[in-house]
Amino acid sequence: MQVALQHCPRHLFSQYLTNNDTRDTWIWCSTSSGIFSTKSVRLLLQTETTQNWKALWSPYIPLKWSIHLWRMVQNLIPVDVTIQAKGVSLCSMCSCCLNHEEESLQHLFFYSDIANKVWTDLSVFLQFNNNGITNISRSVYSFLTRPEITTSAGRLQRCIFMAVIWEIWCSRNRARFQGKGMSAQHIINRSWLSVQAIWISANFQRIPQIWSEALRQPSKDEVNRDTMAPKVAKWFTPPKGRLKLNVDGAFKMTTNEAGGGGILRDHKGNMSCAFAKPYYHLKSSLAAEAFALRDGLLMCCNKGVTEVQVETDSLNLLQIVTG
Ligand SMILES: [Zn+2]
Repeated sequence: MQVALQHCPRHLFSQYLTNNDTRDTWIWCSTSSGIFSTKSVRLLLQTETTQNWKALWSPYIPLKWSIHLWRMVQNLIPVDVTIQAKGVSLCSMCSCCLNHEEESLQHLFFYSDIANKVWTDLSVFLQFNNNGITNISRSVYSFLTRPEITTSAGRLQRCIFMAVIWEIWCSRNRARFQGKGMSAQHIINRSWLSVQAIWISANFQRIPQIWSEALRQPSKDEVNRDTMAPKVAKWFTPPKGRLKLNVDGAFKMTTNEAGGGGILRDHKGNMSCAFAKPYYHLKSSLAAEAFALRDGLLMCCNKGVTEVQVETDSLNLLQIVTG
């Protein structure tokens, strides 16, 4: 600072200086606190066009739906035609129609027999014309940014729309890799169940009768007794002054591969540190979960963090540790 004062009039500095005796420190201008955070970098890197896409992301929308739809508008969903376009020669035969057609993005999600039945069945709720789609990203964007999308009914429209896109893809993969036939009714039921879970958890107020009736229909549960109803899981920040450690481990029995990871975050959700690593010679997912917990706690110890909340999705491990 003394050097700066030699070359620059003091009045130019006065608004920045509080005490001439304090040591100079770096200030990260992109946060109000001046402290660096990875979150602020993400905000900096967002361009105008991605701002337009904020319709894809919302606290009440499952991340997997947002990411899936984002991949769709970027043409990154690996349907046959997209893979062919990357130079891989393969013969395409869709899983969605009796008279098999070439599997393109438009076909699978909007034009096929299955997709058409799903969109037609939901048209009274969505007012979405699946047959008029030529440019997917433009159509999806204009649907998700309709002015009414900010109302309660609009939010539900957005939910069911994204749920359907996700469920069509899941159904296609079950057909393709597990030999289970695609069913429009199953896609519709699964979508409604997910939206039901979100509606209850997010507590949307003042929704039109047509929606509340559809969401309350008990038949949705009856039809799906064999499939697990989705639940909404949320991540909550720890109280101020504490950090939260989330750990997870995974194990693949067919190849004996295992790995684990963890992330430490503060009360604003900012990341303090994280790790991810492979594990060898394990025999169960519980072991992978336990190793991830051990390494997460070690990471905290190495950082000198003693006050920490720990979260794991393994009930088994939780009971062993706390018991
Ligand atoms: Zn088809």
